[in-house]
Amino acid sequence: MRLLLLAPPGAGKGTQGQRLAAGFRVRHIAAGDLLRAEAGAGGPLGREIAAHQARGDLVPDQIVLDVLTPAVVAAAAQGGYILDGFPRTLPQATAAAELAARLGVTLQAAVYLHAPGKVLTRRLLDRASQDGRADDKADVIRHRLEVFAETTGPLVPYYTERGILITVDADQPPESVTADIQAGLAALSLPGSHGHGSAG
Ligand code: ADP
Repeated sequence: MRLLLLAPPGAGKGTQGQRLAAGFRVRHIAAGDLLRAEAGAGGPLGREIAAHQARGDLVPDQIVLDVLTPAVVAAAAQGGYILDGFPRTLPQATAAAELAARLGVTLQAAVYLHAPGKVLTRRLLDRASQDGRADDKADVIRHRLEVFAETTGPLVPYYTERGILITVDADQPPESVTADIQAGLAALSLPGSHGHGSAG
């Protein structure tokens, strides 16, 4: 299975990514986590990543590609991946598609998790009180939602045109979201979407 989760902050792509990866027995590649790890390692690159993340701005495409590509290539060779938060811009999507074509492992599905802005903001503010992430603050949350609409939103028509977009209502309990994703995958009738169908 090679699947991408496309979702605004707070839609639950981390949770769904873990559930789907466990169900399909593939790697869960979370762009935000890999970038935070790189930021935590310090150095000039780490400091640049941390500064973008703290402001709620996207990390520049070339840095994202440098950090994510090795993980994607390794997972592709080991049966697939659930990509969580990458690609997140059109240039990233184009670069990822070129890489995948070169490796002979193109993306099979892009799952768009959507929920009303109010729901997303409430979830992120709730999370802020628990995990203390530098970007879970009211003004930064508002900015991240704007960045998603402007910069990541165009990936919805991009993957629709390629015939692999599944749209799922994320304003439901996590297990219902997972069930809707599985139903969407079954409707796409992907090779391999049946055998390990018990994600979660
Ligand atoms: P959320 O979706 O809630 O913003 P993530 O952990 O996915 O949480 O991302 C956190 C931050 O990491 C983003 O605001 C951005 O700064 C950076 N980031 C994650 N993925 C990407 C990406 N594909 N391209 C650029 N920046 C990214």
